[in-house]
Amino acid sequence: MKQSILQIVLDTPLDSSFDYRWQASDESEAMPQIGQLVQLSFGRREVVGMIVGISAESDVPAEKLKSVQAVRHQLPPLSKQWLALCRFAADYYQRPLGEVALPGLPKNLRALTTVALDRGLKKLQQAGVPHDATPIDVAQLNPAQQQAADAIAGATGFAPTLLYGVTGSGKTEVYLQAAAQILAHSENGEDNPSQILILVPEINLTPQLEGNIRARFPGVTVATLHSGLAEGERMRHWLAAHLGQARIILGTRLAVLASLPHLKLIVIDEEHDPSYKQQEGLRYSARDLAVWRAHQLGIPIVLGSATPSLETWHHTQSGRYKKLELRERAVRDAVLPQVRRIDMERDKPSEGLTSILVSALKQRLERGEQSLLFLNRRGYAPVIACDACGWVSNCTRCTSFMVLHKPEHRLRCHHCSLELRIPKSCPTCGNVDLQPLGRGTQRLEEGLRAMFPEARVLRIDADSTRRKGSAQAAFDSVHNGEVDILIGTQMVAKGHDFKNLTLVGILNPDTALFSHDYRASERLFAQLMQVAGRAGRAAQKEGGSASEVLIQTRYPQHPLYAAVIAHDYDRFATSLLEERAQACLPPYIYQALLRAEAKELETAIEFLQQAAHCIEHTGITMHDPIPMSMTRVANVDRAQLLIECPSRPGLQAFLTDWMAQLRQIKTRAKWSLEVDPVDI
Ligand SMILES: [Zn+2]
Ligand SMILES: [Zn+2]
Repeated sequence: MKQSILQIVLDTPLDSSFDYRWQASDESEAMPQIGQLVQLSFGRREVVGMIVGISAESDVPAEKLKSVQAVRHQLPPLSKQWLALCRFAADYYQRPLGEVALPGLPKNLRALTTVALDRGLKKLQQAGVPHDATPIDVAQLNPAQQQAADAIAGATGFAPTLLYGVTGSGKTEVYLQAAAQILAHSENGEDNPSQILILVPEINLTPQLEGNIRARFPGVTVATLHSGLAEGERMRHWLAAHLGQARIILGTRLAVLASLPHLKLIVIDEEHDPSYKQQEGLRYSARDLAVWRAHQLGIPIVLGSATPSLETWHHTQSGRYKKLELRERAVRDAVLPQVRRIDMERDKPSEGLTSILVSALKQRLERGEQSLLFLNRRGYAPVIACDACGWVSNCTRCTSFMVLHKPEHRLRCHHCSLELRIPKSCPTCGNVDLQPLGRGTQRLEEGLRAMFPEARVLRIDADSTRRKGSAQAAFDSVHNGEVDILIGTQMVAKGHDFKNLTLVGILNPDTALFSHDYRASERLFAQLMQVAGRAGRAAQKEGGSASEVLIQTRYPQHPLYAAVIAHDYDRFATSLLEERAQACLPPYIYQALLRAEAKELETAIEFLQQAAHCIEHTGITMHDPIPMSMTRVANVDRAQLLIECPSRPGLQAFLTDWMAQLRQIKTRAKWSLEVDPVDI
């Protein structure tokens, strides 16, 4: 009888693989292969694991070796390259391989029954593979776009490229054109059809992109991968990618770990976007993993942005990445909006709006044009307070305020989701006159409706779009011209192409200017450029308004606003990089953050102190353990320990040794390590 020993990884925090015996069920059963899934019993549970090694013998005594129950032969094995990607991610982010490889697969693949898998495979077989990669209705590209597309499609080997283009410059068209060229090329002769991976920050906010791609390439299978898919769907899309049937794969960060046997090009749209960073479990950067993957496969990768991350910008300065530029808007005669600051000390706002902004809104209403007011704070007011005794609506479980949600008649904590009825009187002194302080989108909406009763006002934020499909319906009504004034949080800043929008008002951006987080100004700049970019995407109409962006600020002299006005990312990025170099911050240093949380802050700090002293650390800077800036969330106290090293390999080597020591420490604190943290 055929038999061998399989090394298997499982989705457990235990940092190793496990030996199991395999014995053919009958003579006809094929030998198992690396990358195949197996079903087995582990402890008392039945689970699905993955084969990562095969050998003739095991160090485990024969009587202790268990046998696998079944090998999933119907699923072609995951490739060696894919396993290498998972192994890299596991090593780099200091997690066990099984915790990377298995959660990277759709849930249904890891189910104990193969019903869903068999059904998925059958469906794909029936669907067949369309073979015509010719795109239809290719937009006419301007010379800069055409040049960029040709350069991307013509690149050979590992070629990381920043596609640096102002908002509205038609970066998507460049990706699609390059994709079309690569698909057409593989059509003409190569053995395997090419696959193209396009990553976007949030697919639910840009459904028109998916529609666009499907319409453009009717002859190829397009797969989408994101967390919003139902399990059955996710499985089918994943299988289509794994089997090589899907030629274009559009997805969010999790798609970077998809199995793509014929991958020939990776595109990362809005590469600076924070949502490429996973913030729990395996805390990976999809952008960084994508670059590694492109390097491993020797293929081109495009990072697109109007406001690239400083890391990427730094790589173009050093010559590691190539830079392609789109300086003009793609629509002829569409120009970048004029950006102006309004000094709120001189023009005192009423209902949150300065008189200059109010008259600009009036003008748009008269001309039948649309306006967008950007206020990145949902709810009615961030806090309610009692004038008489000084009581404020603190959350009892977090270091934060309960936010007033007036339409819902609730106080809500945005961090732990605690909900309370709005108190009728002050809980401390009984004063009935409780005041909302500050302004969120709901209060702005109320004020605008009173100010412009005839205008059609729509608010789009996480509260107004809770129901499935309601965000899409809201955006549709803006596109259909059923809205005069749109109020929105960051949800409206991304990707949308509002054709009739000529005014953007930006309210309250100042808080980020003085944040303790050194990345705050980089993020604010990106956000302002992005939301400003919603204005004037079509050519100015005859008799219509020139597009403009008005920023209400108390700090009009701040250099960040000057850079936004000049649309001058280059200079801004260069000065930020100089600051970072002087302060010895990333990308000039490499960081990791050890976080600990516990019921009592002391437990967390104590663990971090032990962690700091459990190992020699020459060449590593270990900062003091400190409480996180928002210390308590949902009755759990949180603290952190930052470590830094001038060399990436140096940091990696240290982390591996350190993790081994940390696992030995006995503590009641829950802890986790993040490499290249973005929120410190
Ligand atoms: Zn009171
Ligand atoms: Zn709370």
